[in-house]
Amino acid sequence: MKNLIKNFGLFFLIFLIIAVGFSVIEEGKVKNERVGIQEFVNQIEDEKIESVVIRGGEMEVVLRDGQKEIVKKEVGQTLTELLYDLGVEKEKISKINIDVKDSEGWQFWLMNILPFLLPFLLIGGFVYFMMRGVQGANSKAMMFGQSQAKESGNDPNKRVTFKDVAGVKEAKEELKEIVEFLKFPKKFLDLGAKIPKGVLLLGSPGTGKTLLARATSGEAGVPFFHISGSEFVEMFVGVGASRVRDLFKKAKKNTPCIVFIDEIDAVGRKRGAGLGGSHDEREQTLNQILVEMDGFDQNINIIVMAATNRPDVLDSALLRPGRFDRQVVLDNPDIADREAILKIHARKKPLAKDVSLRKIAERTPGFSGADLANILNEGAILTARRNKKIITMDELFESIEKVMLGPERKSRVITVKEKKITAYHEGGHAIVAHFLPNADPVHKISIIARGRAGGYTLKLPTEDKHMYTKREYIDEIAVLLGGYLTEKEIFGEVTTGATSDLRRATSIARRLITDYGMSEKLGPRTFGEKEEMIFLGREIHEQKDYSEKIAEQIDEEIAGFIKLAEGKAKEIIKSKKDVLEKVVARLLKTETIEREEFEHLVGKKK
Ligand code: ADP
Ligand code: MG
Ligand code: ZN
Repeated sequence: MKNLIKNFGLFFLIFLIIAVGFSVIEEGKVKNERVGIQEFVNQIEDEKIESVVIRGGEMEVVLRDGQKEIVKKEVGQTLTELLYDLGVEKEKISKINIDVKDSEGWQFWLMNILPFLLPFLLIGGFVYFMMRGVQGANSKAMMFGQSQAKESGNDPNKRVTFKDVAGVKEAKEELKEIVEFLKFPKKFLDLGAKIPKGVLLLGSPGTGKTLLARATSGEAGVPFFHISGSEFVEMFVGVGASRVRDLFKKAKKNTPCIVFIDEIDAVGRKRGAGLGGSHDEREQTLNQILVEMDGFDQNINIIVMAATNRPDVLDSALLRPGRFDRQVVLDNPDIADREAILKIHARKKPLAKDVSLRKIAERTPGFSGADLANILNEGAILTARRNKKIITMDELFESIEKVMLGPERKSRVITVKEKKITAYHEGGHAIVAHFLPNADPVHKISIIARGRAGGYTLKLPTEDKHMYTKREYIDEIAVLLGGYLTEKEIFGEVTTGATSDLRRATSIARRLITDYGMSEKLGPRTFGEKEEMIFLGREIHEQKDYSEKIAEQIDEEIAGFIKLAEGKAKEIIKSKKDVLEKVVARLLKTETIEREEFEHLVGKKK
């Protein structure tokens, strides 16, 4: 539309210029008097004429007294012929200075034809521009079925290799094999080995799946065709399938290469399981992917990589041999990997000497690679906002909390009373965590609002943990209840600030029984079949695979676990009130307490 307006504007401008041009030419002529042929002949007879300049059908006549006039004649006829015909004497004619200027030339055309032609030209031009606009839109519609796959990987500036991916050792090891296949396929084919076609990268969001796929192509030095599963799912049925076709067509022209289908779960969900609309479309797209993967034979050196964080929902046809039979799992990084990832992302950032990436790695268990990259980025932004030149530990710690909990909201107005309640609430969490042997040590307490939380107590395991015991869970529940119980103990009533604590405590207690088999009474089994149903978005549906009677027992057990944890927490809050008061007083004064200071106040954790 914008284009159309622009074109139209341009057109209008040209029109204006032409019109002005015309009027100028006309103007020049208006000054000269127009006379008829007879008058002209009379003037010749009277020898009044000095010279004549003939331009096509017009003659500019200059009289001896300096006056000028315009005389029209027929175009085809020459002046002499005309004058003979009118019976003018030869002698008189020869006295006139006759000059013929490119008689039938451009001016003639301009003067005579253009006025007629111009409207047609204008209309024609307008129609042309209109058509072009429509055609543009049309051709876009025609492009719809083509894949929007972006080819990259050959640009040496943006090339990523395994060096840019920290950690994920096993995954890299697996992918090195793929690199070999791409580089030296003959080596394998000669031995009769089948080159794998598909590699599926599995890992939670931000673990570097996309990055690793790109790095594989960089390492092998082959083109990389990248498309995201969600791009397949469009408004029109059939578009996805045609995009797949197009994608593979492009890839086949560029072998060896990697085709990367990001977020394949968007199309590769179990077929026939969904409710709702777009599901036919997904099925077609998925079928097309399968057809294409089966279609090219061993000699064509295309490796199809795909990534997902939901392997559980993938259609089993995708995972069959000959398709995505290689599966590479990317874990969240452990402490050493976290440090390595931080190092990679710190490469181009000026860090102060006191910055210890190890310390940051210690503080960030459970963070993904993307989170870690984000910490350094936020740190840099914060440093810039503080008008400093180098990033210090201060900014980085701040960023960790920002990434974890959302930005600090110092401006949130809280009353003195609210501040006091928050201080007791967080202090309660902290001392319960401190005095329970199986709870993680406290790293920081703060009563500054952050994200949606009014305050927070940050406690972190001393090392990365993958397994938890029942005791640890019970202590965890006790710590969660610590805030609530302290409010109750001190003020005699509770506030809404404890909602999310209670919800989490309850959910942990339930999982202990239904998922982990940690209840003595109900024994080693799970309760409830979790199944994902897709209807208007995402929804986890739990299917009850137990009786009402068991349901009652589960409820009782949940209550029992919570009671147990509550008892533990209460005892600490009552017996360590003096320590609590110390912590609260400090919190009200400084609003945050770091680990060292906390230990100074309450002693080292046993
Ligand atoms: P995913 O596709 O698994 O969701 P990405 O590959 O998009 O994750 O990762 C997002 C960003 O996180 C990457 O661009 C990179 O900056 C960073 N990142 C993640 N994992 C790593 C890693 N192992 N090494 C270096 N950077 C990483
Ligand atoms: Mg990704
Ligand atoms: Zn709380």
